[in-house]
Amino acid sequence: MILFDTHAHYDDERFDADRDAVLSSLPEHGVGLVLNPGCDPETSCRAVSYAETYDHVYAAVGYHPENIEGISDEAVEAGLKEIEVLAAHPKVRAIGEIGLDYYWCKEPAERKRQQEVFRAQMRMAGRLGLPVIIHDREAHLDCLTIAEQYPNVPKVFHCYSGSAEFAKQLLALDCMLSFTGVVTFKNAKKALEAIRLIPIERLMIETDSPYMAPEPYRGKRNSSLYVHRVAEVIAEVKGLPVEEVARITTENGKKFFNIP
Ligand SMILES: [Zn+2]
Repeated sequence: MILFDTHAHYDDERFDADRDAVLSSLPEHGVGLVLNPGCDPETSCRAVSYAETYDHVYAAVGYHPENIEGISDEAVEAGLKEIEVLAAHPKVRAIGEIGLDYYWCKEPAERKRQQEVFRAQMRMAGRLGLPVIIHDREAHLDCLTIAEQYPNVPKVFHCYSGSAEFAKQLLALDCMLSFTGVVTFKNAKKALEAIRLIPIERLMIETDSPYMAPEPYRGKRNSSLYVHRVAEVIAEVKGLPVEEVARITTENGKKFFNIP
């Protein structure tokens, strides 16, 4: 069984003590592929360096909506240029993570600024022929509106947190939907309903490490070693063997990120 953790942040300081040990041990534990997205120019650069070091690691580069907070427009613009240069690296397979985060951001002008940076990166992905990894926290409608405006850019909604109804709208736009260890939590009813509705060909699995550790590891540092928990829940909901879910979600991820 080979699993693909399509979203993990190994640049996080919680991996400083054992990053190499964790990353190099993944293939022998059944995690054959990892995609590490960036959240700003610095973490994007680090994502590329891990992709250069490990055959089984790929990178995405992008400016996360939370990471532009407190950064001047000029600095964000310069950062986007750096990100576009990094995107030319052969192991960069997406622009991400990008999107909207309205959870902390209530100010209309700041939300508008997030939308502008999101759109700039959708255009970048279109220019480069890359897919995008979308972060959508409490911003479903605005994310949908922007997603609709770039029909030729392949999209995955990562750490999917919307309803089954909203999933239908995203499926109609040909989006992929990716789930984390949140599906193992007691209050995951909404996520399970969405999984039930989404065809397995549209599903990807991820950890969002070091965040979102699944049960029974909830509250601990997450790593790709726990991504099997997401596959197990999907297998249960879909009534499929977990090996089949692993095989299909790995294929889906390879196809989406254009990995041979
Ligand atoms: Zn993330």
